[in-house]
Amino acid sequence: MYRTHTCGELNIADVGSKVNLAGWVQKSRDLGGMTFVDLRDRYGITQLAFNEEWSKEELQKARKLGREFVIQVEGEVIERASKNPKMPTGEIELKVISLTVLNESVTPPFTIEDESDGGEELRMKYRYLDIRRNPVREKLLLRNRVNLEVRNYLSERGFADVETPFLIKSTPEGARDFVVPSRMNQGEFYALPQSPQTFKQLLMVGGMDRYFQIVKCFRDEDLRADRQPEFTQIDCEMAFVEQEDILNTFEGMVLHLLKKVKGVELESIPRMTYDQAMATYGSDKPDIRFGMEFNELNSLAQNKGFVVFDKAELVVGIVAKGCATHSRKQLDALTHFVKTPQVGANGLVYVKYNADGSIKSSVDKFYDADALQEWGDAAGAEPGDLMLVLAGDADKTRKAMNDLRLHMAEGLGLRNPEEYAPLWVLDFPLLEWDEETERYHAMHHPFTSPKPEDLHLIDSDPGAIRANAYDIVLNGNEIGGGSIRIHDEDLQKRMFDLLGFSEEEAQKQFGFLMDAFTYGAPPHGGIAFGFDRLVALLGGDEVIRDYIAFPKNNSGRDVMIDAPATVSQDQLDDLSMRLNLKE
Ligand code: ASP
Repeated sequence: MYRTHTCGELNIADVGSKVNLAGWVQKSRDLGGMTFVDLRDRYGITQLAFNEEWSKEELQKARKLGREFVIQVEGEVIERASKNPKMPTGEIELKVISLTVLNESVTPPFTIEDESDGGEELRMKYRYLDIRRNPVREKLLLRNRVNLEVRNYLSERGFADVETPFLIKSTPEGARDFVVPSRMNQGEFYALPQSPQTFKQLLMVGGMDRYFQIVKCFRDEDLRADRQPEFTQIDCEMAFVEQEDILNTFEGMVLHLLKKVKGVELESIPRMTYDQAMATYGSDKPDIRFGMEFNELNSLAQNKGFVVFDKAELVVGIVAKGCATHSRKQLDALTHFVKTPQVGANGLVYVKYNADGSIKSSVDKFYDADALQEWGDAAGAEPGDLMLVLAGDADKTRKAMNDLRLHMAEGLGLRNPEEYAPLWVLDFPLLEWDEETERYHAMHHPFTSPKPEDLHLIDSDPGAIRANAYDIVLNGNEIGGGSIRIHDEDLQKRMFDLLGFSEEEAQKQFGFLMDAFTYGAPPHGGIAFGFDRLVALLGGDEVIRDYIAFPKNNSGRDVMIDAPATVSQDQLDDLSMRLNLKE
């Protein structure tokens, strides 16, 4: 028997027991007549003791052990002379009677410690060694726990896990498809699913009623820092439901996870419309762990002779509590921040509401203390607070102010990763105007149902139609989104038409779905959660890469297996394909 126990479970109560352990050599200390070895497995570390008085032979073997050797030992649990209260096994050690080397190891390219000396790229290349490190292993185990809790919650409510295919054709989630050539159908290609969207809707037509799947999705996007080309969704769909049913069901799931995984008990999840979110936070995924809401100052600040404000579509301010003491240097740094190309503002106006009641601003030339006090009153500024004001085109200014708000909060330590503030954002617009292609795009996807009360705008002002679409946001990150679907063939056709699909195109791409709708499709709707991000947030992080066992880097490469890679001429010949690489 390789082992009778794991390396994490023996304690003072086991003293006197004869046990076998197996694992990796974390480190060893050679003291001449004695050697101590830390033996590690997934569950912990146990100290092994070798002593020439017990066995010269085993001691000699132990002195030759290198880092990461795989060994098996037989021995007796004894009480340690110098105990380590920080380790669960710290009161005991194993008096080794017999040592077997199961496998040697070359010296690993980085230290297998909580704080490794290995850089990111190196750790990714040897990811299997990285996974031996506690922090990485803990993240994967957290992922497993969240996965199980999701399954428990949904199974108890009658959701059935149904697998859907990976070799399909395009699903319109707004990204580029990964395509797979078909050998059996030469010249034709599968697309990997950007999501199981159409299949889960077909499962509703099929009467499955409540579906879920924790499933891989594939989107060929240029990778921003925190995206992966293949990622995991908790994908769900329900029949005979309205928006309210979905919100309640999945609010329950998020609260369940927070409670079970983090011990955080919340009563409910607040709701806000998309319009409110944009006006109050300049973002459709606001971080509501802190205030600093937007205050529109147009009526107070315009027509007082300050041209910058006068010609602006929007003048908006936020109040940073207790920041009136900001130095010139700090304010300059903020001005510099808002003027960076990513933020894109032209300048920053500040008003200090000093603790002594005096007011000092960068626009004193145009506004007297009374006028500035009016702004402060409107925005809820108190003595000691600092107001920051941006002005310009409404959309751009909101975006810039959102960046500034998050930047300020970061600096003030208001974004505590151990605090959880989920939020529903409702009533998203159905369509989004794309300047480049000069047409409407579905803001969510083309199967999303318009709000019936807005349908009359379909010809006159389609951009103003709101959808039965919702997002769930956690600490300023979108963790999920979904919608009530169109289940009527005619409406679906009109939608495709609005999105600029010709009838033939719509038929070619989605004829199967519209056909299905002619056979009695029930009203249905659903949601999908970004599982990687959700787990990362529950781990107190925003970076998803560490929560994926074998992630890709920013150029979409797996540097461990070195993929993607070229294929042989035979493989290309089988597919009747020839490469035509651009220089
Ligand atoms: N398929 C959608 C997505 O991946 C989610 C949904 O509408 O259920 O974003």
